[in-house]
This record gives sequence, C-alpha cells and structure tokens, in this order.
Amino acid sequence: MTLEELRSEALICTGCSLSERRTNVVFGEGNPQSPLVLIGEGPGDNEDKLGRPFVGRAGQLLDKAIIEAGLQRSQLYITNTVKCRAADWTTGKPQNRPPTEQEVTACRKWLVPQIELLKPKVILCVGAPSAKNLIKKNFLITKERGLYFPCEYAKTAIATLHPSYILREANKGGDGGYSLLVADIRRAYDAAVKLAEKG
Ligand code: URA
Repeated sequence: MTLEELRSEALICTGCSLSERRTNVVFGEGNPQSPLVLIGEGPGDNEDKLGRPFVGRAGQLLDKAIIEAGLQRSQLYITNTVKCRAADWTTGKPQNRPPTEQEVTACRKWLVPQIELLKPKVILCVGAPSAKNLIKKNFLITKERGLYFPCEYAKTAIATLHPSYILREANKGGDGGYSLLVADIRRAYDAAVKLAEKG
C-alpha cells in the first residue's frame, strides 16, 4: 500500500464517533521522504476546516519556529496522532477537547501504517499527548522533552513543547518555552539527517 492509498482510505474512515462531526480528515502533509516527522495531538477547528495539520494559531507559531530553526515546513512531514477534530458539542458551540483514549486507539489504525510507510529516522512528538502515545505512557514533558528515546516506529523519538502550551505560557510573560521548541526542532532535524546519512 502507498501513502496515497492509505490517505484515500483514511479520508472516508468511520472508525470512531469523531467521524460524525468532522468536516475533513486531517491525514498529514509535507515531504514523505523527510527523515523527520512531526506528530501533534489532533486537529482543531482550523485544521478541520482546511484538512491540513497545524494551520491555526498553534500552527502559525510552529511555522515560525521551523523557520527560526533554519528549516522550511516543506522539508518536513507533519501529522497528528488523531486525524479528526475532537470537540465537545454539548453547549451548541463546539469546544476543542483532547481525544479520548478510545479515539486515540481507534486512530492508530491510520497512524501506525502511516509512520511505517514514511519510515522516518526521527519522530518529533509535538506535545505531551503525542509523546505519551508514541514514546511511553508516563512521559513527563517538563522533565523529558528534548531527550532521545527508543521508539518502535523510528530510530529514535524526541518530544517538544506544544505550541498551544507555549502560547498559554507566553501570556504569563517570557517566551513560554518558544526557544526550546526552536532548539528541539533543529536538534531533531540534525539527528535525523545524520541517521539518514548512516543509512
Ligand atoms: N494542535 C495539534 O496538535 N495539531 C494540529 O494539527 C493543530 C493543533
């Protein structure tokens, strides 16, 4: 199966109840040959509308960090652990919420073969939920971000701060951890390139 074939199947997925309210499945995009794959938590409102990962406020900050790390978004492949927007609809106005464990598990059906087809050297988990999914359940983002971990789906995996978290923290003053995001992206990319050269 090719990545395009997998995407076509994912676009019509009804494997969990998130499919009932979604506008678009956000499968992922970028350079499938990239040695580095960034994996976030799941699409929000803007991503759901456009069918593209990280295009809202958090995405804009991620783009800025990628450029500041000396890279271009088109050099990377970017996706999420969950491909459809998780939101609470009980008040009439949808509020983003973290995907449930059941939703995360259901979506591994797409995530795992997607990573297997991409064959990245390094996975950069963007935020704690992604790290808990792909590195280890009890991952501690404050203590363990920026460190290399063994990973079933790549030579190594590293986690960094989620841009949404950085935006919240920056409201309290300081850079909210933005410089760490920039440094982690650069380090992860350099490690991925080195591993790719080794073959
Ligand atoms: N947050 C994520 O984790 N992923 C997106 O695509 C957008 C926001």
